[in-house]
Amino acid sequence: MLTTNEWDLLSQRLPAWLEDSRREAAHGSPASYIPELAHAPADALGITIAAADGRELAFGDSGLPFTLQSISKVFTLLLALMDQGEEGVFRKVGMEPTGDDFNSMLKLELVEPGIPFNPLINAGAIAISSLIRGRTPAEKSERILAFFRELTGDLNLGYNEQVRASEAATAHRNRSLAYFLKDNRVLEEEVEEVLDVYFRHCSIEGTCRHIARLALVLALNGKDPDTGRELVPRRYVQIAKSFMISCGMYNASGEFAIKVGLPAKSGVAGGILALVPGRYGIGVVGPALNDKGNSVAGVHLLQTMSAACDWSIF
Ligand code: GLN
Repeated sequence: MLTTNEWDLLSQRLPAWLEDSRREAAHGSPASYIPELAHAPADALGITIAAADGRELAFGDSGLPFTLQSISKVFTLLLALMDQGEEGVFRKVGMEPTGDDFNSMLKLELVEPGIPFNPLINAGAIAISSLIRGRTPAEKSERILAFFRELTGDLNLGYNEQVRASEAATAHRNRSLAYFLKDNRVLEEEVEEVLDVYFRHCSIEGTCRHIARLALVLALNGKDPDTGRELVPRRYVQIAKSFMISCGMYNASGEFAIKVGLPAKSGVAGGILALVPGRYGIGVVGPALNDKGNSVAGVHLLQTMSAACDWSIF
């Protein structure tokens, strides 16, 4: 596909592709282990594409607000790298995919040392929350939110308080993970304090447009899409993108690399952040999830687009 025609192709074909993919949502359902997420419209599907030259496309339910959930983990990783450097971060988390579910605790017991395999599974992201600089949990959370506001350019970005409270009240598994980590000396602070930071960043709420903008910053190796100013050092973006390829779609990351071939990160509210290096940031939302915790319709749509535009980086 010729690059010059690609934008026209996307503008013309995306509405039909989106409706095709929307039908796939029937094969999944919204997450319910966080009770508040179960209310999401199961057949919603929206997309925003933000191009490096400032153009933007949006279709379907792109205005639907949703919580970032695990998509936020990419950015807490970046902030932790900026706060602690590579050495500080990789003392507490590994660099490898697990092949297990995102909230599994299996490997924490099986493998020595008992540090999480990577920063994108829940155990790893909880460890990363503890690495964010700040004297109190509130100060850490403020710095995380300020970072998201800077990257999205939206000073009004905030939390969905119902989703945060719903997760905090039911997060028995994440609590177990955190206590394991405390016992394994990965966490130095109090478990509940670290979890408060973690639940808060998972409950940051945005739309596809925010996700597309965040993705575009990564697609531009950490540069502000408007000013070209460095927001995140390139090396750290490189680390984050490597993790997105190997672990961003949990234990469906291998399949996603083969079928779509783009760095991406999903969240249990149905969001997917994906990027075409140097060119596009993409935000998708489709709350119905498959058994791996990824948006069924969202993955389908990205697969259609990537195949049509020959986007795979491989
Ligand atoms: N807040 C969610 C959890 O901890 C994030 C998981 C996800 O998006 N996959 O379970």
